[in-house]
Amino acid sequence: MFHRLTLPVTAFEQNCSLVWCDETNEAALIDPGGDIGKLLQAVEERGLTLKALWLTHAHIDHAGATGTLARTLQLPIVGPHEGDQFWIDALPQQSQMFGFPQAEGFAPTRWLHDGDEVGIGRETLKVLHCPGHTPGHVVFVHDGSRHAFVGDVLFNGGIGRTDFPGGNHAELIHAITQHLLPLGDDITFTPGHGPESTFGEERRFNPFLPR
Ligand SMILES: [Zn+2]
Ligand SMILES: [Zn+2]
Repeated sequence: MFHRLTLPVTAFEQNCSLVWCDETNEAALIDPGGDIGKLLQAVEERGLTLKALWLTHAHIDHAGATGTLARTLQLPIVGPHEGDQFWIDALPQQSQMFGFPQAEGFAPTRWLHDGDEVGIGRETLKVLHCPGHTPGHVVFVHDGSRHAFVGDVLFNGGIGRTDFPGGNHAELIHAITQHLLPLGDDITFTPGHGPESTFGEERRFNPFLPR
């Protein structure tokens, strides 16, 4: 069975997710932005073996601890899409600009593309490329538990900012309305920041979506 735990990290309260398969106790961290001690404690407390780091996009609050974790624990970095290479290159500047600890550089082990799958233990998640907030933003969807990890694409009552370099409002709206919401009203999601919601709730009430 698939499990998940939300661990808010950094001053931006970014929702890092610890996900795992309870048949193998193998785990992955989605968007390890910072607070390494807190993340590793959550892994240890549950007797899990960390096998991979998955990234939705390369903003500092989502990716800041990736380089250090990958190097010290010998973990593969999976994602985001290569459209975010320039954000990875800019991680040192992002650290300074937002007063984060200096982020260690890294190179993804595997870039992700629309339709790809990522696996942890016996569980598989689908990958959707959802540009707009960043060009290389991806989303992870676990069909069995009807849950999605959407990063900064969609929030409870909000959508991702598109005023950064490479942002594109029309692309973001397209990704949400044409790729995410059609997956079904019943899908619950963990956004990059703030409380969870469902696609149905956002389809009906999110004030930033056309209807
Ligand atoms: Zn972001
Ligand atoms: Zn964010």
